[in-house]
Amino acid sequence: MRAIQVSQFGGPEVLHLVDLPDPQPGPEQVVVRIHAVGVNPVDTYIRSGAYGQRPLPYTPGTDAAGEILRIGSEIQDWKPGDRCYLTGSQTGTYAEQALCHSYQVQPLPEKITYQQGAALYVPYSTAYRALFQRGNARPGQWLLIHGASGGVGLAATQWARATGLQIIATAGTDEGLRQVLDQGAHRALNHRSADYRQQVADLTEGKGPDLILEMLANVNLQHDLDMVAKYGTIVIIGNRGNLDFNPRGAMSKDASIHGMSLFNTPPELMEQIQAALLAGLEQGFLNPIVGREFPLEEACAAHTAILQPGAMGKIVLIP
Ligand code: NAP
Repeated sequence: MRAIQVSQFGGPEVLHLVDLPDPQPGPEQVVVRIHAVGVNPVDTYIRSGAYGQRPLPYTPGTDAAGEILRIGSEIQDWKPGDRCYLTGSQTGTYAEQALCHSYQVQPLPEKITYQQGAALYVPYSTAYRALFQRGNARPGQWLLIHGASGGVGLAATQWARATGLQIIATAGTDEGLRQVLDQGAHRALNHRSADYRQQVADLTEGKGPDLILEMLANVNLQHDLDMVAKYGTIVIIGNRGNLDFNPRGAMSKDASIHGMSLFNTPPELMEQIQAALLAGLEQGFLNPIVGREFPLEEACAAHTAILQPGAMGKIVLIP
């Protein structure tokens, strides 16, 4: 099979297309024929060597969707041809095939395309965990999604709208602002404009958002503390550096700052997330937005694109 391989950490140019043997399933494993791969920012952090170092060489990627190709002798719930999305794999997803334990495949409803299926696991699970398991979001609350035009932000917008929150969503381009409104935000503000924090205060009548989902904490955490409501909560989803920060804001507002990493989710809470995700897809209130597609061999270009400003949904690779 064709696969992308990293044999040294570095820039996007270390992503090479190679030929590897087709994976064969153990008794409780399946092999998935991948039709679309989801590219996540964390794939670039790992590739650069900055985060969660992997033994070399490795094939990147956590997200993908496709169909079951081969099954192990103990597998009863899946048969070849079944549509699925992945919640991780044993061999990496930037490839034509991936070896998975049976618990790493989930059913993909017919009306969801493979490209959309590749946008499910990391973005939608992260958004759900941030909103409901870490942020304790409740209907009627004011929610600020600080960075809503990317994979996680659009997923959070759809979950929150279906749950009855009042959503202020930020993006950095006109196209991103249109997208977040299309996906259910009540108000859209540009996080590159000088006065958007004042607009958040005005929209919430001076009270501030009850909950903030933060995609770039090293830039925004101090602003979030200035904006958040008394007794409010900030959930840190994304961070790319350090900041000079005064904790007094948390003290004076009894505000809570919760970190989260999807990979810390306990198995029983992950089961809840996947059940909620399947219900949302079947009912139609979750509908992943795919922004750009690249052929698998252009993984290098996809890694460059995902770190550039102007997100408009998910970037996927097509093997
Ligand atoms: P993405 O698709 O690349 O989207 C990035 C988002 O950040 C876009 O909406 C972008 O908006 C926005 N952004 C850029 N500059 C900003 C600023 N100054 N203030 C606020 N937002 C800004 O990435 P993603 O998949 O949605 O992930 C978002 C972040 O969460 C990444 O840092 C990622 O590594 C992290 N993440 C963490 C977890 C976890 O478990 N903790 C899981 C998944 C992702 P514009 O491009 O429109 O400016």
